[in-house]
Formats: sequence, C-alpha cells, structure tokens
Amino acid sequence: MENSYHLIIVGAGMAGLCAAAEAAAQGASVLVLEKEEKFGGSSLLSGRYMAFAGTDIQQREGIADQTEYLVADMLAVGEGKNEVDLVEAYGERQFETYQWLVAQGVEFHKVQAVSGHSVPRGHTITPLQAITALYEGAKSSGNVVFKTQAIVQRLRKNAAGRVAEVIYEHEGEILTATAENGVLLTSGGFSKSEELLSAFAPQLDGALRIGGAGNVGDGIRLASEQGAWLRDFPYLKGTFGFHPTADGPWKSQALAFYKGAIIVNKRAERFVNESISYKLIGTEALRQPDQITYQIWDQAIMDQGVAVDALYDFAKLQALGLIEQAETLEELAEKIDLPIEALNKTISVYNGDVSNGSDRQFGRTSLTHHFGKPQPIRQAPFYAMHTTVAMLATYAGVSVDRYAQVLNPYHEPIEGLYAAGEIAGGFHGAGYMTGSSLGKAAIFGRVAVQSALTKHAVL
Ligand SMILES: Cc1cc2nc3c(=O)[nH]c(=O)nc-3n(C[C@H](O)[C@H](O)[C@H](O)COP(=O)(O)OP(=O)(O)OC[C@H]3O[C@@H](n4cnc5c(N)ncnc54)[C@H](O)[C@@H]3O)c2cc1C
Repeated sequence: MENSYHLIIVGAGMAGLCAAAEAAAQGASVLVLEKEEKFGGSSLLSGRYMAFAGTDIQQREGIADQTEYLVADMLAVGEGKNEVDLVEAYGERQFETYQWLVAQGVEFHKVQAVSGHSVPRGHTITPLQAITALYEGAKSSGNVVFKTQAIVQRLRKNAAGRVAEVIYEHEGEILTATAENGVLLTSGGFSKSEELLSAFAPQLDGALRIGGAGNVGDGIRLASEQGAWLRDFPYLKGTFGFHPTADGPWKSQALAFYKGAIIVNKRAERFVNESISYKLIGTEALRQPDQITYQIWDQAIMDQGVAVDALYDFAKLQALGLIEQAETLEELAEKIDLPIEALNKTISVYNGDVSNGSDRQFGRTSLTHHFGKPQPIRQAPFYAMHTTVAMLATYAGVSVDRYAQVLNPYHEPIEGLYAAGEIAGGFHGAGYMTGSSLGKAAIFGRVAVQSALTKHAVL
C-alpha cells in the first residue's frame, strides 16, 4: 500500500540513523521523517564521546575495562535512581553495538578520561563522519525513504488500538503514513524549548541553551498524547564547562577542571569538588553569586590540552581570546576582576591540601571520578576561563522498557510505539555519565527496530 511501511522513524540523529541502518539491513521498509533541513540533530553538535568498554582501542592503550565496570559507573553516577534493567540492557548490548558501528563505517579515534568513568572510556568519533556513514549505509540499501523538512505533528492508533499512523507536514502539505510494525520516536530532547525548560527546569534559568534546532520536545508531546509515562524530570541538569559565548557559532568548552583546574565564584572561593560530574558542578555553579564562575589553572595543566578535542583544546580557546593568561595570580585576578587576596588564599589552601593528600574543603581526591591525582597549581603562567552552564541535553523523557517500548503509567507497553535516544527517560537517573547518551542512542535505536520487527513480525 502506498505510504505504508514496516517502520516509521521520527527524527534522524544518532538514534534514528542507527535504527534506519539496522532496519534497512533486516530488509524492512522504512520511512524516516526529519524536521530540519539536515540530519544529525544534537548528535551532530555533540562533544563526540561514546561510552563503550573492552574495546580494541582500550586494549591497545593498556586500559583494563569490562562491561561490569561500565554498568557500575553508570549506576553510581545516576545515584541508583536509574532503571537498572535499562542500564543492564546497555551493558549487554554495548560491545556488540560498538563493533556494529565500526562495521557501518563509523570511525573511532581514541579514548579519553571523561566524566563519571573510573577508567578512560570516552571513545571519540567525528559526529559528521558518523552521521554520514550511517545515513549512506541505510540509504544504499534501497529500503529507506528519507524526507527532510518533514515535521511530525500527531500520531494515531489504528482500529486495533496500536499506534500506526503518523501525520506530518511536508512541503506545505499535511500527509499521513502508516506503519505496520511500529512508530519509533527518535526525536531527541527539548534543550531548545524555552517553554518546556521553564515548565520542568526553572532551576536552569540562566543556563545557555545548546542543541539541535529541532529539539523542542515534539516527541514527548506525541508520546504523551498516546498515554506515555514520563521519567527523570526532577533530575534535569545543565553541563558546566562552557564559555558564556558558547551558544553562538563556537560551542566553546573547556574541562580544565578534569585535568586539575579549580573552579571559583566571583568571591574567588571554591564551591565544589571539581572531580564530580559536570552536571552536578553545573547545579552548584548556578547557585553562585550572579552565577559567575571561573576555572583557574597553571602551565602544567595547560600542557595537557589536547588539540582538536572539543573538551580539552585549550590552545584553540586561548587563540579565540576566551582564556586569560598572566604571569602571576595577582595579575590574573586583576584581569578577571576577582579579589586578589581571596584568590591567593584559595589557591594556597588548595595547594597545601592536595600536597597533603586531603582536600579538607570539598574532599577532592581525583581528577575525574576516581581517575588521576590532583596537583598543586603553582607553575606560571596562570590561566582563567569565564565558565558557565549550558543545557545541552535533557535526558528526562518518556518511560521505556529494555525493548525500547514506550510504557504507560501502569508500566504497560503502548502497542506499536517505541522510543530511543535522548527522548527516552529512566536511563540516566540522577546524573549523566559522559558518552552514555550517544551510546544509548545507538544501542536502543537498534534495539527498538529489532523488537518492533520481532514482536509484530510481518517480514
Ligand atoms: C554540545 C553538545 C555536546 C554533547 N556531547 C555529548 C557527548 O560527548 N557524548 C554523549 O553521549 N552525548 C553528548 N551530548 C548529548 C547527545 O549529543 C544527545 O543526547 C544525542 O545526540 C541525542 O541523539 P538522538 O538521536 O536521540 O537525538 P538528536 O541527535 O537530537 O536527533 C533528533 C532529531 O529529531 C528531529 N526531530 C525533532 N522533532 C521532530 C519532529 N516533530 N518531526 C521530525 N523530526 C523531528 C530533530 O530535528 C533531530 O534531527 C551532547 C549534546 C550537545 C548539544
């Protein structure tokens, strides 16, 4: 039947394109509807880390890692509020998905120590390369119809009570397509929706809003209309580490604190253990006077910058004029308008404490999570970056089970409706572990397709 497909996928970021590639390989007919002119959503803007364990790259670098450690880290960062079954499903599928991505032509470059991981586990991709490889793979199968500037507006159930109809706007027309096996929502989060952020996360007023232009929570509304339950909204958090200009063309970000920098407020006082999740740091940063915060570091840390790395390319940020440099702490304080005596005192207390192996103020014992050892900040020149919080990804979303089926308030699957990627809640719990969002988009994008095609097998 014309306009009838096995699967309809709403949104073409990492989750939607992995789903499309998986479905195409299985011979299903697929319609992918993407609201924007280009594919990629927030995935294209991402910091490019994916969380996988036990990979060839880790082995080459002598990093001992395994699924159990990854799962344990994820539950620890989520403070046990995550849905354990979802985290375990991630664990069960993570290594195989990594290998599948490699087979799709996605290039992984190296691993970095990133927030929330007890070992270096942030596998870097180049988002555009990954998105292009997945798209090309799905397209070349001939099974997938891609439409851009196709905005899904409503879903409808069929006579059997299963979600099966998608109503969307394309080229000025309102069109309907039907899905025999299921509708998969991979429409991302709502980091660009002022309306939803002010309704669900007023504590993030003052945070920058960064994300795919189309990420305004359409999928959450579409699923809610079909009776979806929602998860994790109380835990919405911003990410600390962005320059206040980062919502412009440059997503300027530096996580010098994970290399040993300290973070101070406008009184030049530390206010947090800098090794904890940048999400948790973000919560504290927004509570500081006038929400003004700086990272401060020295040459020893500057030397650990990593060229072309979105999080650690300090030299590039300095070239853009976003990092201040000074020969003395006094000169640095003057440049960024912090009280000089207070800054000297803060650094001298911190240096004494880390030399003695105990940060009496905030209990910092590592650089990030349990990894690395903080060192005194004493090697001139010194550096400072005005740093703020950005809302990048919302993570809270519709309730799903391990098969990516969307659940109603009674934890029952809504027949025919699947969700994967940032739209799905319940996974991160109280905190997000770096790389797990792109990771879950890839893993559960494929899982959703596999369950839709198996549960309602018509192939
Ligand atoms: C700056 C930045 C850095 C980040 N760094 C990392 C990182 O290093 N590691 C990590 O794991 N995560 C990171 N994240 C988060 C991560 O990028 C996202 O959570 C992830 O990419 C979401 O993938 P997705 O496929 O679910 O959604 P997206 O990639 O956002 O794709 C959703 C797509 O759906 C489309 N859409 C929305 N509504 C509709 C509609 N009504 N009809 C049709 N299409 C629609 C959107 O236009 C979009 O293209 C970062 C995010 C940002 C913004």
